[in-house]
Amino acid sequence: WRIEKPKNEPFLEFRPGTKERELLKKKLEEVKSKTVEIPLIIGGKEVKTGETVEIRAPHDKDAVLAVAHLAGEEEIRDAIEKALDAWTKWSEMEWYHRASVFLKAADLLAGPYRLEADAVIMLNHSKTPWEAEIDLAELVDFWRFGAYYARFIFEQQPEQAPGELNRVEWRPLEGFVFAVPPFNFFSIGGNLPTAPALVGNVSIWKPSRWVIYSNYIIMRILMEAGLPPGVVNFVPFNTKYSSIVLSHPDFAGLHFTGSYSTFVRLWKMIAQNLDKYRNFPRIVGETGGKDFIVVHPSADITEAVVATIRGAFEYQGQKCSAASRLFVPKSMWPRFWEAMKAELDKVKVGPVDDFTVFMGAIISEEQFRKIVSYIEYAKQHPEEYQIIYGGKYDDSKGYFIWPTVVLTNNPKGKLMTEEIFGPVLTVYVYDDDKYDEILWVVDKAAPYGLTGSVFAKDREAILKAEKALRYAAGNFYINDKPTGSIVARQPFGGARWSGTNDKAGWFTNLLRWLNPRSIKETL
Ligand code: GLU
Repeated sequence: WRIEKPKNEPFLEFRPGTKERELLKKKLEEVKSKTVEIPLIIGGKEVKTGETVEIRAPHDKDAVLAVAHLAGEEEIRDAIEKALDAWTKWSEMEWYHRASVFLKAADLLAGPYRLEADAVIMLNHSKTPWEAEIDLAELVDFWRFGAYYARFIFEQQPEQAPGELNRVEWRPLEGFVFAVPPFNFFSIGGNLPTAPALVGNVSIWKPSRWVIYSNYIIMRILMEAGLPPGVVNFVPFNTKYSSIVLSHPDFAGLHFTGSYSTFVRLWKMIAQNLDKYRNFPRIVGETGGKDFIVVHPSADITEAVVATIRGAFEYQGQKCSAASRLFVPKSMWPRFWEAMKAELDKVKVGPVDDFTVFMGAIISEEQFRKIVSYIEYAKQHPEEYQIIYGGKYDDSKGYFIWPTVVLTNNPKGKLMTEEIFGPVLTVYVYDDDKYDEILWVVDKAAPYGLTGSVFAKDREAILKAEKALRYAAGNFYINDKPTGSIVARQPFGGARWSGTNDKAGWFTNLLRWLNPRSIKETL
């Protein structure tokens, strides 16, 4: 049988005066009024270790939303054992039995648990209701399309010839997958442990320390959807214990999204442990970005301005895909900046449960300090940088940083090449006749290759950019913002320092978790 091709889950809009907005407000109050205790889930069972961390709302540091138990060495080893116990049955199941679990989970998340999950995402990640919806719908899509792609992959079979019968058995990896997601997307939190599971793997899931609460909601939904015990094990732990996981003989793959430096550290650890493993592990990672917007003189200013503000500042710029370097032609800059400033003046920063806010807070003190250090660096180097908007920050109540625009005379400087992961956009104004040169700089100056946009009406200019920036962005946008990829429509990921480019939200990612066996029978 076939799974019908899914449709992308539409977003709720929470318009003023609607029932859905009122219900979401009620959920927000409910979530705020209690402090939830979060256990580990190992082999389908709750485990409490007594070693806990508090999960607070980034925009309201006093609000303790949850207290989460952390795994120690013993629990991590136990989780690996339970995963391996579950492996045999799960890996041999027909694909549709596994798919049904995730299709059910998608329906639960899109249906009865939607508003609770939205409220927790908003408060735990400091996302506006609309950003929370985009995030939630993406996980629904990951699961529905994952089931669809699993079916597509499993039906692929080799050619036959007279006198022989050939088959391919789509086996999962032999061992367990280690899933290490970031704080910025609930959807990635859920996708990293489950994409491998969709095609028969088992996983050890170490959620990001900052968003254990939102990720726990996913774990609960998976259990309610009937995920067999041990297939996915929810074990938040201190990174110092990663070596326990990465030195295990049955470690078979890493599914990672996070910073370039963490990915490099994990990869090196894997390299050092290679001779302990039964298999060469699969390493799939999506890391940083220094994502660009290039505006050509033929561009529509209004379109480019709106896209720049959304691309750079939605979710406080905490997306791997967020625009962080902008190139505008000199002839256009005065009009561009006037329009952009007018839009920026409308941007409201504050607690996300006030429905008029466009930007919430930065996830943690550590990230806040890092972003602030770039703003301070710009202030200390007036020969290279001029802050033309924002530059303001305040961590007295929550970790707030206002949208900041920095003008530079050096397109290859620190703020133009390093990932800041916050609401700081650096602008270089180029001579109109230097479009070709600027494309070269965009391609060569920063080491990343994740996302980028070109704004132009002139077809020649679009062609030039597409060619010159062939490896500068794994997700390349023409006349659109560089964020907001949709599952199955814009498969997501980049190369260079941005990762292994296995494309989240497409069948290519699932192929990485498979280990096919060819079977030939002579007749
Ligand atoms: N897929 C997301 C987007 O297009 C970004 C994911 C990330 O930040 O890792 O905006």
